[in-house]
Amino acid sequence: MRKKIIAGNWKMNMTFEEGQKLTSEIVNMYKDENIQDVTVVLNPPFPHIHPVKKLIGETSGVAVGAQNCSDKESGAYTGEVSAKILSSFGVEYVIIGHSERREYFKEDNELLAVKVKQALANGLSPIFCCGESLEIREAGTHEPNVKFQLTDSLFDLTAEEISKVVIAYEPIWAIGTGKTATADQAQEMHAALRRHLGNKYGKEVANNIPILYGGSMNAGNAAELLSKPDVDGGLIGGASLKSRDFLEIIKSY
Ligand code: PEP
Repeated sequence: MRKKIIAGNWKMNMTFEEGQKLTSEIVNMYKDENIQDVTVVLNPPFPHIHPVKKLIGETSGVAVGAQNCSDKESGAYTGEVSAKILSSFGVEYVIIGHSERREYFKEDNELLAVKVKQALANGLSPIFCCGESLEIREAGTHEPNVKFQLTDSLFDLTAEEISKVVIAYEPIWAIGTGKTATADQAQEMHAALRRHLGNKYGKEVANNIPILYGGSMNAGNAAELLSKPDVDGGLIGGASLKSRDFLEIIKSY
């Protein structure tokens, strides 16, 4: 059975108080609703990690993730945060290769491969983001384009290593735009990516890798997207900043 994951990406939002309030509400609702089969991952900005972790406490099924980590192990890299530091704060997941990092910080497949290795070497599960631009979707080359992102950044990993990776398929044209991929478009890509993983690592390994959908998922469209057989959860931006909306997505699973 593949893990079901709903991950919230707060991006560069939330003051200390807002983050505390949001986390408390999510944790309390998660407990009240007695949710058991969906792992929730909160990915706040770095300074929130420790206080968010404290609020989560022993709540099983809720974990903390980071939005990025350094490709370097340690040392004189001012402003960077290593996977080792994150791990020492109890972080379990780290988003790697979000399209905003690819676009604004020029992170390429090669660099992302190193970050994935750093994460794995320090016991973190990378949430590896991939996805195509609108231009590529309209040209009809989205499938080979996204497959290549996996090949280039992940296919040096061993089967044991890739088994700890979570993939997030996030069509760039759907992120923060209110324009969601249809459930069929998502399923088509997720199935293609799983086949791609299967060709490299075998069916059993591929069948156990969670593939999340990301791109304007909200309380209204989540149930349909999450009903698809190869959609194993969501990476949620905007709708993860309001506890009710986020919880509705979790419940709709
Ligand atoms: C994201 O940033 O990963 C994302 C999916 O954002 P949104 O849900 O706001 O489209």
